[in-house]
Amino acid sequence: MESNAHQTSILLIYTGGTIGMIQNLETGVLEPFNFQHLRSHMPDLNRLNCSISTIQFETLLDSSEIGPESWVKIARIISDNYAKYDGFVVLHGTDTMAFTASALSFMLENLSKPVILTGSQLPLGMLRTDGKENLITAIEIASARDGDVPMIQEVCIFFENDLMRGNRTSKTSADNFNAFHSYNYPALAHAGISIHYNLPHIYRPILRKPLKPHFEFDNHIAILKLFPGLSPSVVESILNTPDLKGVVLETFGSGNAPTSDWFLSLLKQATDKGIIVVNVTQCHTGSVEMERYETGHHLWENGVISGYDSTTESAVTKLMFLFGSGLTPNEVKEYMQCSLAGEITVPQ
Ligand code: ASP
Repeated sequence: MESNAHQTSILLIYTGGTIGMIQNLETGVLEPFNFQHLRSHMPDLNRLNCSISTIQFETLLDSSEIGPESWVKIARIISDNYAKYDGFVVLHGTDTMAFTASALSFMLENLSKPVILTGSQLPLGMLRTDGKENLITAIEIASARDGDVPMIQEVCIFFENDLMRGNRTSKTSADNFNAFHSYNYPALAHAGISIHYNLPHIYRPILRKPLKPHFEFDNHIAILKLFPGLSPSVVESILNTPDLKGVVLETFGSGNAPTSDWFLSLLKQATDKGIIVVNVTQCHTGSVEMERYETGHHLWENGVISGYDSTTESAVTKLMFLFGSGLTPNEVKEYMQCSLAGEITVPQ
């Protein structure tokens, strides 16, 4: 760990991903490199008006390799260092960043400091890199104050120009610098010539309570994405997976699905066994409304619950988190329909 003394103190947690990669000259493949290279590529980091300490994963990971074990590692670093720093910036591969941000938002109960995830589409070492701006702005946002409290007190993703609530975000482009979107919740800040904060949409805890980190996940979860022509044997094998506890059902439009007997009876068998089936729409924008069409209503009648306007990333990590906390299926069902960290909009 290294640091330089200034005002606000930021802990930079480097997990891997394109932002810190170099090209292997023999194979041409992008590989992670040591964090020291990141700093030497960015002497400008030293010009920011804050002190920056760094911790990096022993083995740097492409984010395709990141899952609950790494989420726990990141959450532990944050909770172990919580009192020492004003904010946290997590450098992470873009591919699964939205899952990690969602998971952290559930794990870090009572968070009252900024946790900003960022990365890049092009490595910092490349001329046209987007990593430099992403990293510098993420650090600026993590250092920002609103009077005597941190401006941001939740888990966010900063990418390109926007600061987004992490559990509302999805990766939407494999090419564009503008790679993330939060379709169902407004951006929390926009970085242009200056950074404009969208105060009415930023979460602020009413009471300051001590951070209560959670470190358990249960990955007996599946995603079942509907498509026209989906076969009974595929649905049957997914829903009869041994020890399955929860399913994110990606449906059409406002939460619609075929009404074939075989499909509905397989769902009914699953929900009767206590498997929690959460209805999330395949559309980017909008919410599940199972009462709107007959095709959605049948799902509700067969025990499927609404995921409202949840992203798939948030629904999956929330199920893993709730089952990991040892809750009963009924309790999980209840919490899935409440907003724990601003991840869904529950109609009043
Ligand atoms: N494959 C990389 C990762 O997610 C891509 C990136 O960093 O953008 O780790």
